[in-house]
Amino acid sequence: MTTTYHHSAAFNDLAALLTGQLFLPQAADYEQVRQLWNGKVKTQPSAIARCLTVQDVIHTVRWTRSHGLPLSVRGGGHDFAGRALSEGVVIDLSQMRTVTVDPDQRTTHVQAGAMIGDLIEATTQYGLVTVTGNCTVVGMAGFTLGGGYSPLMGAYGMAADNLLSAQVVTADGQLVTANAEEHPDLLWGLRGGGGNFGVVVSLEYRLHPLTTVLSGMLIYPLGEARTVLRRLNDFMATVPDELTIQSGFIQMPEGATVLLLIPTYCGESAPGEQVIAPLRTFGTVLVDQVQSMTYNELIHQWDANAPKKGGHYYVKTQSIKGFQPEIIDALIEQGLPFSSPGSLIALHHFHGARAASVRRKLLLHCDRII
Ligand SMILES: Cc1cc2nc3c(=O)[nH]c(=O)nc-3n(C[C@H](O)[C@H](O)[C@H](O)COP(=O)(O)OP(=O)(O)OC[C@H]3O[C@@H](n4cnc5c(N)ncnc54)[C@H](O)[C@@H]3O)c2cc1C
Repeated sequence: MTTTYHHSAAFNDLAALLTGQLFLPQAADYEQVRQLWNGKVKTQPSAIARCLTVQDVIHTVRWTRSHGLPLSVRGGGHDFAGRALSEGVVIDLSQMRTVTVDPDQRTTHVQAGAMIGDLIEATTQYGLVTVTGNCTVVGMAGFTLGGGYSPLMGAYGMAADNLLSAQVVTADGQLVTANAEEHPDLLWGLRGGGGNFGVVVSLEYRLHPLTTVLSGMLIYPLGEARTVLRRLNDFMATVPDELTIQSGFIQMPEGATVLLLIPTYCGESAPGEQVIAPLRTFGTVLVDQVQSMTYNELIHQWDANAPKKGGHYYVKTQSIKGFQPEIIDALIEQGLPFSSPGSLIALHHFHGARAASVRRKLLLHCDRII
């Protein structure tokens, strides 16, 4: 059915409705527009509608529905599994990236194509942040609709905890607002439901005052990983909400696999240094890059180390309760050695403000990227 549509004149009708551009497979720049972060995803949509306005989104939803085609939404294109692309029509929001900040109300309104970097750039000018992921080019909407873990999670919760309202084009092409008063059930679903409740066209977030963080990498030899992680497990049960500790196994440029901890303390460096001091005693610290920096600087540092666009990735995720001995054994004995130079294991620390909403004391989320 979708193959028939590749050459159908019916797409001319859709193109005529849009202020943005419609890309069909025969267009020279189609492949460049289609490409996602994960180069392994080969899905070929029948058409990609690059929307510039909410009305473009409404037209595309209604047209696609009336022609009985599958529809998907593309934000930053960083979903591991490539769910931004269907074989039917793709709504591409990448040009709808405006971010406005209300410093008095401590809120920000974000068009749904904005990336994490757009938001950080706009809010940190006012000494304010909301909860974002580690990588500037991930889409803020897709990140939030999936929950959104962050180095700020202990202090402020997940991104979804900070979502105050959203504007959504529903499957029947209506524009609705979801907030505490209007469609509160829809807002509930958007907070971590994964993006299946309509096309979100804008989002409103709560902002928090934060100028500096104390953060950076601490690297330990693989041979000490068991000892360091056992100590970390006890330590994590005692840390204040301001401190979130991401961890994982990575490969150094010369090929050695090492254990990595990234503490992020939300606040001034003097109290932060005191809080993180025990981490430096857990083992032999090969690299210590912990220092005071702005949140913007922190996220740009992460960017430099993030897996690059276009590689062929397989990602497996899992929740674990903590670094119990059997979990540490599984991470080291089954997760390692890595099968390629781009492989890594990343562990995200859910606690503090986030743990209050999930009612758990300590939880880790593990991403294994192969
Ligand atoms: C390098 C990298 C770093 C990452 N870092 C983090 C991190 O620190 N924290 C974290 O929590 N996650 C992280 N992720 C995971 C990332 O948040 C999710 O993959 C997220 O879904 C990506 O959103 P996107 O808009 O970039 O992707 P897309 O692939 O465009 O979208 C992801 C999903 O959301 C849907 N969607 C997107 N926008 C909308 C919308 N406006 N309305 C309705 N549905 C929509 C899409 O259809 C798709 O199903 C990372 C991923 C990568 C590749």
